[in-house]
Amino acid sequence: MLLSRLHAPTLKEDPADAEVISHKLLVRAGMIRQVARGIYDFLPLGLRSVRKIERIVRDELDRAGCQEVLLPIISPAELWQESGRWELYGKELLRLRDRHDRDFCVGPTHEEVITDLVRRDVRSYRALPINLYQVQTKFRDEVRPRFGLMRGREFVMKDGYSFHTDYDDCRREYEHMRETYARIFDRCGLTYRAVEADTGAIGGSLSHEFQVLASSGEDLIVSCDACEYAANVEKAESHAPAVDVYEDGEIARVPTPDVGKIEEVSQFLGEPPQRFIKTLLFMADDAGVVALVRGDDELSETKLKTAIGCDVLRLAEDGEVERLTGAPVGFAGPVGLDLPMYVDQRLAGSTGMITGGNENDLHLSGVAHERDFPEAKVTDLRVARAGDGCRRCEGGTMQEHRGIEVGQVFYLGTKYSRALGAVFLDTEGAEQVMEMGCYGIGITRTLAAAVEQNHDEHGIIWPMSIAPYEVMIVPVKWSHDASREHAERIYKGLQDAGVDVLLDDRDERAGVKFNDADLLGIPLRVTVGPRGVEAGNVELKARDQGEAEEISCESAVAMIAERVARERTA
Ligand code: ATP
Ligand code: MG
Repeated sequence: MLLSRLHAPTLKEDPADAEVISHKLLVRAGMIRQVARGIYDFLPLGLRSVRKIERIVRDELDRAGCQEVLLPIISPAELWQESGRWELYGKELLRLRDRHDRDFCVGPTHEEVITDLVRRDVRSYRALPINLYQVQTKFRDEVRPRFGLMRGREFVMKDGYSFHTDYDDCRREYEHMRETYARIFDRCGLTYRAVEADTGAIGGSLSHEFQVLASSGEDLIVSCDACEYAANVEKAESHAPAVDVYEDGEIARVPTPDVGKIEEVSQFLGEPPQRFIKTLLFMADDAGVVALVRGDDELSETKLKTAIGCDVLRLAEDGEVERLTGAPVGFAGPVGLDLPMYVDQRLAGSTGMITGGNENDLHLSGVAHERDFPEAKVTDLRVARAGDGCRRCEGGTMQEHRGIEVGQVFYLGTKYSRALGAVFLDTEGAEQVMEMGCYGIGITRTLAAAVEQNHDEHGIIWPMSIAPYEVMIVPVKWSHDASREHAERIYKGLQDAGVDVLLDDRDERAGVKFNDADLLGIPLRVTVGPRGVEAGNVELKARDQGEAEEISCESAVAMIAERVARERTA
C-alpha cells in the first residue's frame, strides 16, 4: 500500500474524552473513530489488525476441531424467555420490536440461540461432542462505556459453545479450550495470566479468565508468588492477616451524632477501622439481605451473590435501608436485625467489636459474633489483597496485578440445555440433557489490550502477528530518483514475498515520516537515503529497538521477508 493513498487520518492531539493510552493511540493513528458512545468505525488500519486477530483465533480453533457458524445478530425474545434471561439480563440487553409487535434483542451473547440450533438437529450421542463458534458483532448497552475499544457497547466477539454427553467429556474440552486460548494469546504477542474466575450461580471452580496484564486494566487479580494459583479478586481465596482480638465485654450504647461512615466513627471514637463491623444492606431478588465484613475489608459482591445463590443482587437504596433497619444509612448493625445475614469468616468468633445500633446516631460497642448474632451465616466475603497468604500452597504470598479480561472459558453444565430442552439419546436409548461449555474472546478488546501493553511515548509498537502492516519503507527524499527506485524495488519484492508492506511515497520531510511510522507502530522500518543507496545500503530499524542496522540493498528483500516470517509466528 502506498501511504499517500492510505486512509489513515492521523492526529497530533489526543481525543479530549480519551482516558487510556489505547484509546488515544488508536484514534491518533487513524485506526478507529467514535460514532456514538461506545460505538466505533474501524478504518483500514484498525480493521487490518482486527482481521489478523480473527485469523489467529480461527486458525487455532479450526485446528482444535471447532467449527465456525454464523448466528443472527437479532434474536427472538421467546428464546430468552425460555432461559429466563429476558427478565434477568436487565438494561444491558438492547430490546427492539418489529412491525408485527414481536420482541427481539440484539445479541450480547448467544447461549440461547446456539442451544436452540443444537436441540433442533442433534438427537443422538453419536453427534456429540460438538464445538461451534462464531466471530460476530455483539451489543451490550453498558452503563459506563469507556476506554475506547476496551469497554464498548458494540464490539466484536468470538463466542464458542460446546455440547457433550457427560461431565468428563465437557471437562476435557474445557481444558482443551484453555490450552487453545493460551496459544491464541501467545500468538497475539501478549503477556497475560489465565486466572480462576467467578462462576456465579453455576458454582464450581470451572471458569478461567485470560487477563492481559496492564496498569489500565479494570480487573484486579491476585497471584501467588510461590505456586500457580491466580484468580480474579472477585472470587480469590486467601488467608487474611491474623485478626486482632478485642476483649469480650458487655454491649454498650455509644452515641455517635452525625457520624455514620466507618472512617468518621473510627475517628470520632478513636478506635481503628478493624475494630468495626461494616454492615451492608443488599436486595437479593428484591428481598433484604445483610452482609458483614470487617471495617478495613472490602466486600466482594460476587462472593456474596454466590453465597446467597440469587439471580439479581444490588445494594439497597437509602429508603430501603431505613425501612429494613429503622435507621438512616450508616447506623445499621447485625444485633437484633431480623434479616438473612452473611458474615465474613474473618469475623467468626470476633468479640469486642463496634457496629451500628439500628437507631439514628447510635453505635454499639462490645459486640460479639457468637453471642449477639449467631444466626449469621459464616462464609468468605472479603476481597483478597496483596500480602494475603495463599490458600492453595499454604506457603506463598499473594500479589496484585491489574488485568484486561480478553477472554473467558466457562463450564456451563446443563443450565441452558435443561432450560431449553437440549437432549440426546444415549447408548441405551435413554434421554439425557447435554453438558455445555462456553468460550469467549473479545476481539476488539484484545486489539486495545495489545496497545495498552505495547507502546511508548511516540506511538504504538505492534507485535508482528497483529500489526496492520509489517514493514514500512521510508525513502528520506522521494524526489531523489535512485532512492525512489530502490524503495520501489524493495516494496515490490516484499509484496511478492507476501509481506504486508507500506511505502511512504509522500514528499514530506524525513522527520514527519519517521514520526508517522512510529505512531502507526509498524514493526520494521526500512529507511532508504541518498547516501546509503550510493553505497548500496539501506537502514533497517525495529520499532521496539533503538538502533538501526545497515543492510545491503541486494539482500534486503530476502532478509526482511525471512525476519517478518519468523517474528509473525514467534
Ligand atoms: P466484563 O466483565 O469486562 O464486562 P464479561 O465477563 O461480561 O466482561 P463475557 O460475557 O465473558 O464478558 O464476554 C466474553 C469477552 O467479550 C470478554 O472476555 C471480553 O473480552 C469481551 N467483552 C465483554 N464485554 C465487552 C465490552 N463491553 N467491550 C469490549 N469487549 C467486551
Ligand atoms: Mg467474562
